[in-house]
Amino acid sequence: MNHSSAYAVFGDMTFPADTSSIDILSMHDRDELAGKLRARLTGSVLVPDDAGFAEVTAGFFNSLVPHRPAVVVAPASQEEVRITVQLAAEAGVPIALSNTGHSQPISIDGAVLIDLRRLDDVQIDPGTATARVGPGTRWGQVVEAAAKFGLAPLCGSSPGVGVIGYTLGGGHSPFFGRLHGWAADQVESMRLVTSDGAARDVTADTDPDLFWALLGAKGNLGVVTSLTFRLIPVTRLYGGGLFFDGSAAPVVLPAWRELTDSAPRELSTSLALMTMPDLPMVPEPLRGRLVLHVRLSHLGSAEEGADLIAPLRAAAPLLLDSVVEMPTTALATIHNDPPASPPALERTALLTDLPDEAIEAVLKAAGPAAEDPVMLLELRHLGGALDEPTQITSAATAQTARYNLLLVALLLPDLSEAVLSPGLDNALARFEPFSEGTTMLNAMGTADASPRGARAAYDDTTYQRLAAVKAQYDPDNLFRFNHNIAPAGN
Ligand SMILES: Cc1cc2nc3c(=O)[nH]c(=O)nc-3n(C[C@H](O)[C@H](O)[C@H](O)COP(=O)(O)OP(=O)(O)OC[C@H]3O[C@@H](n4cnc5c(N)ncnc54)[C@H](O)[C@@H]3O)c2cc1C
Repeated sequence: MNHSSAYAVFGDMTFPADTSSIDILSMHDRDELAGKLRARLTGSVLVPDDAGFAEVTAGFFNSLVPHRPAVVVAPASQEEVRITVQLAAEAGVPIALSNTGHSQPISIDGAVLIDLRRLDDVQIDPGTATARVGPGTRWGQVVEAAAKFGLAPLCGSSPGVGVIGYTLGGGHSPFFGRLHGWAADQVESMRLVTSDGAARDVTADTDPDLFWALLGAKGNLGVVTSLTFRLIPVTRLYGGGLFFDGSAAPVVLPAWRELTDSAPRELSTSLALMTMPDLPMVPEPLRGRLVLHVRLSHLGSAEEGADLIAPLRAAAPLLLDSVVEMPTTALATIHNDPPASPPALERTALLTDLPDEAIEAVLKAAGPAAEDPVMLLELRHLGGALDEPTQITSAATAQTARYNLLLVALLLPDLSEAVLSPGLDNALARFEPFSEGTTMLNAMGTADASPRGARAAYDDTTYQRLAAVKAQYDPDNLFRFNHNIAPAGN
């Protein structure tokens, strides 16, 4: 499939490629920069013809956007990250960051790509119940390490997601968020490399503006090379999934809404409507079917949890019930996110309510007689501690939201892109009456990567303040391969 043809379909709304940097470097300049980097680093420095060059971008979760960085650097230490930023900045070359590759919404053509995966150290301090991680760390590593002390992080649904990328986006834990709030609110300190090549230790006391801005501006302000954050104690956890046939959606959806209306903060839940692949790795009862998967996580005893979800369990015949008392090391089985995705486009919205008309919209977008070709529709229940005052920039808009909506459409070679894009947009439009037009940064993908799209993650005052901090620390917008905040004055 020619991916580049997929872009034009989305017009200005979803234009993903930043072409401004493609020709920034001549081959001579590129080789000169690579030479300077090799002279200072022990980590690998690769240019396009080198073996292993394409391996990093080939491993990105969503293969929708093609990437042609100029140089790929894998620093061996925090100091080597700093040197890389310094040399790229001196050469005037923009910088892209990658740990897991779970969200690279726009093309990183022409960039120096810093591959952070090697720097994946995790240290747990049980005395202070904190974790300190390097920039290559994934949630699964922290969950494993913290579990030894009866602790857990406010992690996301997938163990493969990067700790720092997730946390700088606010970080919504679908397991613990309703009881403990946003992951970014647990951050105590960060070490940040800024575009001037300086390494700064940032806390709320030392640099209040920068600290505030980092908690929700993701990679816009530099490279966070170390993050220290608080963990939570977990004594008992009852969680898993209830799987219903998609045909039961008209009765299960209202039952799920009822559960969310009365759920205590200890209970977090989300649902996904999707057609499961007809593959041996999928449990037989689910294979090839439209399935409604309700995910549940209860911080408490199995008895209390079972009582809370009894009406939902009884709402319709179950294809599969995996809800059990579990250790935190089994958290990943609650959502069972895939390790990679085919080329896909996402749309997202925060919903203020889920009236009958919104349930009708869910069915029209992804139900048994769907009118829009949406591959996956997810609703996450928010509220609880997520509503409490937070200093997280990107969550400022979430405080009146009750649910987060995520819609995913696959771009498969045998499906017409021209049909798919309006399908996804039609599906999103159905939810307009229940949304304030705001979005959760971490749920945003390529379709929201235009400057206009990125603003939807912040209210206006927050965006202006972020733009001022950006102008101070990254005036030339070297860190631009993201949901970009333009430096104030540009
Ligand atoms: C399957 C799946 C499940 C998810 N579940 C959740 C969830 O439950 N809750 C939630 O809130 N989000 C969730 N997300 C979204 C996820 O948090 C974001 O995609 C996040 O940006 C991923 O970060 P990463 O480092 O893994 O990805 P990468 O693609 O490696 O990095 C993405 C971006 O993060 C920034 N970044 C990464 N590392 C650094 C760093 N060290 N310093 C500065 N910036 C950095 C950069 O801007 C980079 O471009 C999920 C995503 C996927 C694909």
